[in-house]
Amino acid sequence: MLTNPNTIQLSEIFTSIEGEGILFGTKTLFVRMAGCHLKCRWCDTSYALPMYSGNSYSVEYVKKLIADHLKPFTYKVNFTGGEPLVQYEAVIDLAKFVRERGLRTYLESACYDSDRFAKLIPYIDICKVELKMRDSKVVDMNHYDNLLQNEIRCLRTSVKNHKITYIKIVVTNSTDIKEFAGLVENIFQHVRSADISGFIIQPSDRIDEPTTERLLQFYDIVCPYYREVRIIPQLHKQIGAR
Ligand code: SF4
Repeated sequence: MLTNPNTIQLSEIFTSIEGEGILFGTKTLFVRMAGCHLKCRWCDTSYALPMYSGNSYSVEYVKKLIADHLKPFTYKVNFTGGEPLVQYEAVIDLAKFVRERGLRTYLESACYDSDRFAKLIPYIDICKVELKMRDSKVVDMNHYDNLLQNEIRCLRTSVKNHKITYIKIVVTNSTDIKEFAGLVENIFQHVRSADISGFIIQPSDRIDEPTTERLLQFYDIVCPYYREVRIIPQLHKQIGAR
């Protein structure tokens, strides 16, 4: 794991259209941090998974890159990956810098470490908390319960800190309906529907894609808890954006 808070392993930085979640369609500067030790079978950023992929820069140089890449009317700056919590100390520095420029900060994380998340969240405005189903193969199944507990703690922390918080769950055609129902029940034992700003069911893309009937089953499970649930595919892939 990367531990030097003065150095950033950066995969890429670019402006594009937000393709996921409650803010899809917004002009966004993506700061993709390198490194993720998780193993989702539908991961679409495999190039950013190795811990030493991308380039190594000083924190100050990445701040300059952000300043140079910022375009007018950018809605938010996304810290994404890879997994941003791997380099959470550097992300804290960058998020402070982004806020000083009057822009919103946005965190996309698999929430694998609730302690790191708690340190980073004060500097984040909008948080997408992703909860992984077992069929994602995100971790060895012996470690799945531990990951889920971290994800739930991160969700609670984000809400407790009054961040704009929404939930995303990627589903495939193999996602177990009972497991999904249990996860949704678990989520709403920890947060109220009024605490969150969205609940997104995201169909997997090109890998074991769920049928419409299956997606509606997932929708019907969430709806009694959260009326504004939405099924939203990844927009950027539909329109050929990066
Ligand atoms: S957590 Fe994100 S970056 Fe890591 S393997 Fe899963 S989808 Fe890819």
